[in-house]
Amino acid sequence: MSTQDHTFFEKAVSRISLSSGTSDLLRKPWRELTVSLPIRMDNGTVKVFEGYRIQHNGARGPYKGGIRYHPEANKEEIATLASLMSWKTALLNLPFGGAKGGIQCDPTSLSENELKRLTQRYIHSIEHIIGPQRDIPAPDMGTSEKTMGWMMDTYGQLHGYQPACVTGKPIELGGSLGRNSATGRGVIYILNEVAKDFKLEKKETRVAIQGFGNVGAWAAQLAYESGYSVIAVSDVFGGTYNPEGLNIPELFNHYAESGKIPTFKLGTSISNSELLTLNTDILIPAAIENSITETNASEITAGIIVEAANHPITPQADEILESRNITVIPDILANAGGVTVSYFEWTQNIQQFQWDEQRINRELLSRMVAAYTQVRKKSLEEDISLRQAAFQIGIGKVAKAVELRGFV
Ligand code: NAD
Repeated sequence: MSTQDHTFFEKAVSRISLSSGTSDLLRKPWRELTVSLPIRMDNGTVKVFEGYRIQHNGARGPYKGGIRYHPEANKEEIATLASLMSWKTALLNLPFGGAKGGIQCDPTSLSENELKRLTQRYIHSIEHIIGPQRDIPAPDMGTSEKTMGWMMDTYGQLHGYQPACVTGKPIELGGSLGRNSATGRGVIYILNEVAKDFKLEKKETRVAIQGFGNVGAWAAQLAYESGYSVIAVSDVFGGTYNPEGLNIPELFNHYAESGKIPTFKLGTSISNSELLTLNTDILIPAAIENSITETNASEITAGIIVEAANHPITPQADEILESRNITVIPDILANAGGVTVSYFEWTQNIQQFQWDEQRINRELLSRMVAAYTQVRKKSLEEDISLRQAAFQIGIGKVAKAVELRGFV
């Protein structure tokens, strides 16, 4: 996973005029908390896990960001992801700062009871720095709406009923309609805008997706429903490929039965590295960090990459892709649908009112299109990449808030 990487930030900052005090403040997280989490395992032994909550910048509102359970989660990586949240919420005009959290663990090797105890212990350990007006966690890799329900319950035992303390909850606990699909839906809303700009015919446009979790599976389903030809998808075990287009509903049935993508009979089994370099028009990395590196960047054939995952392209690979004229839709724009509907969920919880799903999707569409239009316009006007444009807009807004508050 990534060590803390400032390359995209430094590149953007070199083109906007910020005082050195402001850029120093934005370069580092405001607060980092590391906690030890002792858990009684089902076999009676005690195991100690390490957890983190890192708050990058809260000048524009309460901190907001997901919590991941992953064996390689670490402080440096979480800090990088926390800063991406600050630029993302600013870019989408959401009244939040940026944060991220996680526990270094392999959730697939823990029982449901172990996971529940770990989640409860984690919230007990960070409860003093989170809350509906302080910092609002959400799901990320390895966590789900079930995890968010446990978090809300634990926080509520300490502070009273406060559903706005986390987002991505089950609907029955005050979750928002449309939150589960929001990140994948946002990815496809952006893809549709890109397709219009590049005059792509949907049914002739081949899409390959790495990752079949919350983001990748929804992106696959909605790309298929929108009429794109989804030729390959993968999970951690590998992928499946059909140059004529995969039957995605059949793939969902297969996945529900087997829990594995590569054994799908209506496609050919491929590795994750083969998926990334497949002959395709659109590549959507929707799994993990640093999938596209200087090792495979020169072999990518897709003309357009939509970053559904966070930080799937290393800065070195990004330069190679740019020199090859491959268009990259950056993560802070492409995957912002999740935090946008999290904002709608938080708003509904505070108003104690529920919006219908059409309204959620309509408002999501309008915010995603507005952000994309703004980023594309800046990129064309200044002849810079979409990433550079998105970072400049996001960082510029956070810097302005920092200065207006009198921090620097
Ligand atoms: P998830 O845990 O639901 O799914 C992850 C998927 O990636 C799974 O299919 C898994 O099998 C696959 N995977 C894991 N390791 C892999 C590897 N080494 N190679 C290939 N595939 C691998 O996670 P998610 O919530 O879908 O998140 C995916 C990415 O999207 C992450 O980068 C996350 O930060 C980002 N993201 C998620 C959300 C959200 O709302 N869930 C919002 C914004 C960004």
